Amino acid sequence: TSVINKIAAGEVIERPASAVKELLDNSIDALATRIEVDIMNGGADLIRVVDNGEGIHPDDLLLAVSSHATSKISNADDLFSVQTMGFRGEALASISEVSRFRIRTRTADQTQGLEFEVNTGTPGKPQPCGCPLGTSIEVRQLFANTPVRRKFLKTTKTEFGHISEQFTRAALAHPRLYMVLRHNNKVIFDLPPSDNLIDRLRLFYGKKLSDHLIWVESQLEDVRIWGYVSHPSENKSTRKGQYLFLNGRWIQDRTLQHALTEAYRGLLMVGRQPISFLYLDMPPSMVDVNVHPTKSEVRFRDSQSLYRQLLSTLRSQFLGMDL
Ligand code: ADP
Ligand code: MG
Repeated sequence: TSVINKIAAGEVIERPASAVKELLDNSIDALATRIEVDIMNGGADLIRVVDNGEGIHPDDLLLAVSSHATSKISNADDLFSVQTMGFRGEALASISEVSRFRIRTRTADQTQGLEFEVNTGTPGKPQPCGCPLGTSIEVRQLFANTPVRRKFLKTTKTEFGHISEQFTRAALAHPRLYMVLRHNNKVIFDLPPSDNLIDRLRLFYGKKLSDHLIWVESQLEDVRIWGYVSHPSENKSTRKGQYLFLNGRWIQDRTLQHALTEAYRGLLMVGRQPISFLYLDMPPSMVDVNVHPTKSEVRFRDSQSLYRQLLSTLRSQFLGMDL
């Protein structure tokens, strides 16, 4: 396969965790209610994501794995109102370009599933298979044909740490999803669906931390900010935990990070960081998510107004408190 394809693949898939992120996004887009992730050796040997989502129709399967094929955008205007996680149509193409890739999928209107393999960019022939409703994707020997990249993978522990972080972001963004993560056949997380965020937070961070979180919420026109933050006088935990989600996807944002820091200024012991799980909901037209290949950075139409909204949401919450 071409060098250009391999280079392009590297932009999206830099390590096993990037593949895990893309596969989780796809399962979420496919409206799965259950996602199981199996990892062997930090993802270097196997990444398997199995979902019970809507599956891929046989007519669309080959297309799904080829470059710039996405079922999620039908015209250029859609780019400005992206609701789903994926929209570039290159994740599966990129992953299958640099691994031994196998997909099995079945939609509700099919009695038989379809299996399709791609060996480092070389597609096999789709075969019928017995398969439950949904999609199962296996990625073996990631970077098998890009030895330098494979060699530069960090230790199993480090790579699995990145995978676990991606899994955590998806699990916190979607508490209603049943999610399982196994590493080398050992269960790391087994998360039953939670109706509310705090139950899921408790599973991740334990009762001690979750009991010290306070609920914050505000709505300003179409923009809702909600979630949990640590009590300003909660100084015991040094654990890093600042999560921000926009319309169901994890993002990073300097301006909002700054608002958080500002709200806690003078309240925390030196060296302590607030813990936060903050969710923004706003109409997709108020934000451009198409600025970063992994979509982790976005451009808000009015970032200053968001800054003020978050700061005042937190400050007014802290105001009446005994600090
Ligand atoms: P994108 O998500 O940007 O559209 P991808 O390469 O991630 O591109 O996926 C290509 C297409 O394959 C998707 O548009 C979708 O139609 C289909 N697809 C991928 N994964 C799944 C899945 N787990 N369930 C159902 N459809 C999927
Ligand atoms: Mg995708």
